[in-house]
Amino acid sequence: MLTERWKIYTYQTVESTMDQAAQLIGQEDQFAILAYDQTKGRGRYNRKWGSLAGNLYTTLAFKPSQPCHTWGQISFVAALAVGEVIQHYLSKSQNSQKINYKWPNDLLIAGHKVSGILLEIIDSSWLLVGVGINLQNSPVGLQYIATSLKEVGGEVPLPGEALSLLTAHFTVKMNILETKGFSEIRAIWLKAAACLGEGIEVTLRKKEMIEKIRGKFIDLDEEGRLLLELPNKEVKKISAGDIFLLWD
Ligand code: ATP
Repeated sequence: MLTERWKIYTYQTVESTMDQAAQLIGQEDQFAILAYDQTKGRGRYNRKWGSLAGNLYTTLAFKPSQPCHTWGQISFVAALAVGEVIQHYLSKSQNSQKINYKWPNDLLIAGHKVSGILLEIIDSSWLLVGVGINLQNSPVGLQYIATSLKEVGGEVPLPGEALSLLTAHFTVKMNILETKGFSEIRAIWLKAAACLGEGIEVTLRKKEMIEKIRGKFIDLDEEGRLLLELPNKEVKKISAGDIFLLWD
């Protein structure tokens, strides 16, 4: 069970909060890295995470008590915790914009990405949960438009303040996962899932090969896999990939 006590290591600049956390593993049972800047922030598949001033860059590190093969569920726990943080600062400025969760690990406001989550496992015993939240700034020129709390008119906290709220919500939600299982987390996530019930295209990566398949996003299973109904009604379980909404 996680406790509310997270040891926070704060840095002005790191290459990436993930790499910094990996170096400190074993120092504490549960800790977080907070960096004001990253020179090599990364997302999935080593994609660049744009790290502009004033945003939150953090990695939470701990040893989950659940079996390692279920840790993918923790990405949804993290998404809900990030959702609570963003909702808090939107509500403070009476902003009623809706947050959506985009499978597997992004948060959107009005369809624009405001946060990304990255999970990495170390030695099959430690889990690193990387979180970037655009508080003050968002990068321009990406394939899809990004946004920030400031741009949508939310109250903008200092990164350390947002991190305190994040660790608090993450701890509560992890304890729900531990005591009640994934179904409650899954149900909350599904209520605000982007593209649910819609036609999507999924890009799958197998070594150097890329495969694109189209279908309807019908559900999330108990392992956090996306269930895609193909045109022939067969249901395919997707455990990793990128999804895009099809407008036609
Ligand atoms: P997507 O579905 O948006 O491609 P992903 O889950 O594969 O996302 P991540 O691994 O979470 O992506 O993050 C990397 C991608 O996120 C980059 O390729 C870029 O498109 C986008 N990105 C990078 N920095 C930011 C940022 N600060 N805010 C929003 N989006 C970002």
